[in-house]
Amino acid sequence: MSISLVDLQNFVNSELIPLEPIFLQQGFGAILPKLHELRENVRQRGWWLPPLSRLYGGLGMPLTEFAAISEELGRTPTGHYVFNCQAPDVGNMELLHMHGSADQQARWLMPLAFGDIRSCFAMTEPEHAGSNPVWMDTHAVKDSDDYVINGHKWFTSSADGAAFTIVMAVTNPDAAPHLRASQIIVPLDTPGFKLVRNVKIMGEAGEDWSSHAEVRFEHCRVPQSNRIGGEGAGFALAQDRLGPGRIHHCMRWIGICERALELMCRHAATRELSPGVMLGSRQVVQHWIAESRADINAARLMVMDAAHKIESKGAYAARVEVSTIKYFVAGVLQRTLDHAIQAHGALGITDDIPLSWWYRHERGARIYDGADEVHKNVVARQELKKYGVNFRD
Ligand SMILES: Cc1cc2nc3c(=O)[nH]c(=O)nc-3n(C[C@H](O)[C@H](O)[C@H](O)COP(=O)(O)OP(=O)(O)OC[C@H]3O[C@@H](n4cnc5c(N)ncnc54)[C@H](O)[C@@H]3O)c2cc1C
Repeated sequence: MSISLVDLQNFVNSELIPLEPIFLQQGFGAILPKLHELRENVRQRGWWLPPLSRLYGGLGMPLTEFAAISEELGRTPTGHYVFNCQAPDVGNMELLHMHGSADQQARWLMPLAFGDIRSCFAMTEPEHAGSNPVWMDTHAVKDSDDYVINGHKWFTSSADGAAFTIVMAVTNPDAAPHLRASQIIVPLDTPGFKLVRNVKIMGEAGEDWSSHAEVRFEHCRVPQSNRIGGEGAGFALAQDRLGPGRIHHCMRWIGICERALELMCRHAATRELSPGVMLGSRQVVQHWIAESRADINAARLMVMDAAHKIESKGAYAARVEVSTIKYFVAGVLQRTLDHAIQAHGALGITDDIPLSWWYRHERGARIYDGADEVHKNVVARQELKKYGVNFRD
C-alpha cells in the first residue's frame, strides 16, 4: 500500500497543524489524548508505520519512498509520532527487527510496532565525550543467568513514560575497544533504574516522548537473554542503527525547512511595512527565500542520493554520503530556520508559531547522531586519502 502525498498533506494540514498552538503553549501532554485518536485514524487509513516491515504491521516502505512521507510528516513537530515512526522508537524497532531474538521480538518489538508502548536508547554518558562512543563507564557484569548493570547516562531521549530502554554497557572490558560493549534491554520498572530528571533544553524540560532524560542504573538486574545480538557486538549494532537513523533525521529536517520557507513566504507576502508595501518587496527577504529554496532542493537531492546508495550498495558503502548529508542538511536546517525567524521579526521568537520551538530543539541536529565536526572528519579523510594521506588514529 502506498500513501497518496496529496491525501497525506491534507491530513497534516487539517488534523496535525491545528494542534500546534496547544502543543506550543501547553506542552506535549496536553495534546496526547488527541494524538492517540489520530494514531487510530492513521491505522485505519492503512498508513501506520511506513518504514517497518509488514511482518510487524508496517508498510515495508523502502527508504527512497519513505523520504517523501517523512518530509511531509516533518512539517509539524508531532507528525512522525502520529504515524508511530518517531525517533528513538523507529530505530529500536529496526534494531529488534534485524537483531532481536524471537522472544525479544514478541515481547518488545510487537507492542512497540503496535504503538502500545514506547522505548528509549541509553548510550551517551555525561562524564565522557559521546563523540568517542567506545569510552564509557556503564558496566554489565554477569551474575548467574543475569547481568547486573551500573551506570549513568543522559540525553536518553523519550525515557519519560517509556516501557524499556536499550542500554549500551561494557560487558567485555578486556576486549579491543570496539568489542567491549553490548546492547541490553532494560525494562524501566526494573529495580535500580532511576529517571533523575528531564534535562532542560534551552529552558524547557519537556515531558513524555518530547523530552531528554538523565538516568541511572544502580544494580539493575536483567536476564542475559535481554542482550541483543552477540556479546561485545554493541558497536556493530549501533552502526546498523545509526546509518538509516541519520537518513531519517535528514528527511524530517527537510520537512521542517519546507514549513519554515512556507511560513516565511506567507509572512513576506502579507506583512505590510507601510500601506501597500509588503515585506516581500525587500531584496534581502527575497534573497533569504531564494537561498533557502536552493539549500532545501540541494539537501533533498543529496538525501535521495544517499538513500539510493544505501538501498543499492548497503549502509557501509554509503557511509561517506550519510556523513555528508548529516552535517549539510543540519546546516541547511539551522540557516533556513534563522532566515524564517528573522523575516517574522518579534513574532519569530514567540511560541505563537513553531519556528522558535524548532530553533531551540533542533539546534541539537548539529550534535546528535554525531557532531558536525566528526562527520566532516569522515568526509575529509576520504577525500584526502585520494591524495595519498594516511591516517593512523
Ligand atoms: C537532542 C539530542 C538528543 C539526543 N538523544 C540521545 C539518545 O536518545 N540517546 C543517547 O545515547 N544519546 C543521545 N544524544 C547524545 C548525543 O549522541 C551526543 O550529544 C553526541 O554523541 C555528542 O556527544 P557529547 O554531547 O558528549 O559531545 P562531545 O563528544 O563532548 O563533543 C563536544 C564537541 O566537541 C567537538 N568534537 C567532538 N569530537 C570531535 C572530533 N573528533 N573532531 C573535532 N571536533 C570534535 C564537537 O563540536 C562536539 O559538539 C542526544 C543529543 C541531543 C543533543
